[in-house]
Amino acid sequence: MLPLPDGSCLMTVRAKKSLGQHFLTDPRVCRKIVRFASIRPGDTVIEIGPGTGRLTQSLLAEAERVTALEIDSHLVGLLRAKADHDPAFAGLAVIEADVLKVDWPSLLERAVNHSLGGPEALDQGGSTIIVGNLPYNIATRIVKRMIPCKNRFHSFTFMVQKEVADRICASTGSKGYGSLTLGIAQHFKRIAGFPVATGSFRPPPKVTSAVMKLIPDLQARPPAEAAYFEKLVRRSFQHRRKTLANNLRGFAGVRDWKGRLSHCGIAPQARPQEATLDQYRCLCQML
Ligand code: SAM
Repeated sequence: MLPLPDGSCLMTVRAKKSLGQHFLTDPRVCRKIVRFASIRPGDTVIEIGPGTGRLTQSLLAEAERVTALEIDSHLVGLLRAKADHDPAFAGLAVIEADVLKVDWPSLLERAVNHSLGGPEALDQGGSTIIVGNLPYNIATRIVKRMIPCKNRFHSFTFMVQKEVADRICASTGSKGYGSLTLGIAQHFKRIAGFPVATGSFRPPPKVTSAVMKLIPDLQARPPAEAAYFEKLVRRSFQHRRKTLANNLRGFAGVRDWKGRLSHCGIAPQARPQEATLDQYRCLCQML
């Protein structure tokens, strides 16, 4: 039970597996995530999936105001009660919504209005920072959902399964390097953070987790690159053991892929995981 200052109590929370609920219980981990997110006074802070509010409380200690997006109506009620009764949560605004369906531009606007600095803070260099211990079952979909609004926020710090964080942050030639790596690297600078052990959660997840950060890359890309990048990368990695030239055979009606690979500095027998982000960009720009 959660005691409230008015003498009433809130029921404790039973974690819902279907919503990927693994609640952080270690306040040191929460503080470490907040430090890694580099929040400054006046920043607009949005939390995805606040759950019972452990990480939220650490975010509020830094930002004073946080806009949190939660799908579970029971938890939304619990968090709103905390915001009403617990001074540590006084700056919390909770929006009940599905992160995969919410209209991000209007959510971002609401969050800016709720922030301590307000809309003026953005003109004075304040940033919008998104943070979340993500529901692991939809984590990659959430990350990809941030691509279209990448010019509206400064950074996105999140926790996922370590295996997913490793794939996103993978370097060329490594085991995890693939279409997820390149799809994210095309839009963001990727910063690996730190692992978090299963014992830091209730209930504990089956796998180790990791915290990482994405910073949007706002450089304009040639139209051909933007149009073909995702399709080309997906096709390139269709069979990891085949050569890139074989995977690309017939793609986009191009006959001579080997000539194009050579133009982009890729060896004729190279496997898809051996080509760099810049080399994939080069291939796209030739289409
Ligand atoms: N931040 C809390 C913590 O660290 O203890 C909870 C993290 S838990 C891994 C994921 C949270 O995301 C849960 O609160 C869950 O209800 C919420 N969630 C799951 N699917 C969601 C969705 N589609 N939209 C918004 N929130 C969602």
